[in-house]
Amino acid sequence: MKICFATNNKNKLEEVQQMLPPHFELVSLEEIGCTEELREDQNTLEGNSRQKAEYVYKTFGVPCFADDTGLEVEAINGEPGVLSARYAGNERNNEANMALLLSKLDGQSNRKAQFRTVITFITPSEDIQFEGVVKGEIIKEKAGDRGFGYDPLFIPEGYSETFAQMSMNVKNEISHRARAFNQLVKYLSSKKS
Ligand code: IMP
Repeated sequence: MKICFATNNKNKLEEVQQMLPPHFELVSLEEIGCTEELREDQNTLEGNSRQKAEYVYKTFGVPCFADDTGLEVEAINGEPGVLSARYAGNERNNEANMALLLSKLDGQSNRKAQFRTVITFITPSEDIQFEGVVKGEIIKEKAGDRGFGYDPLFIPEGYSETFAQMSMNVKNEISHRARAFNQLVKYLSSKKS
């Protein structure tokens, strides 16, 4: 069965292909002829991942899944959430996003946060969502230089290092994205075709 993963990130595509049983062939947006930028202008992670998967399925007729991720910080009502990539502006600057987050949490003792990934999977007979969450806290100063996004500010529960300090292998085992994709893979593995 051919399934499209609606992402332009080749690393994500390869990683998920390796997790899937062999009878699922993962195809990229490019391979199905989708060259336009996919809109994600909904105000929830659920809405954005559905918007992308639904568009690809309806336009190209290929079963499809899409993901969307956000960092949700408790003390500021779940911000930056769906705006995580462009919290400090449309230029999607990680440094500016982290600086804005730290300024909003200045003097705040509640540092609880979570990364959340939502995946929507759409076929002619299915429309299903999966969620992966990793809880943790936002520290006061950046630490570490691995990873991307808000990694230098986030320490997952049960660990003493930020995502940007730990090895990619460890992060990829416990991350929100891994948890969401593991659920999708489990679901697909239980299907016959
Ligand atoms: P996307 O939906 O995977 O493109 O993620 C949206 C935004 O959330 C990214 O641009 C990052 O700012 C943030 N983000 C997503 N995943 C991570 C992560 O694993 N570490 C740090 N930031 C992340």
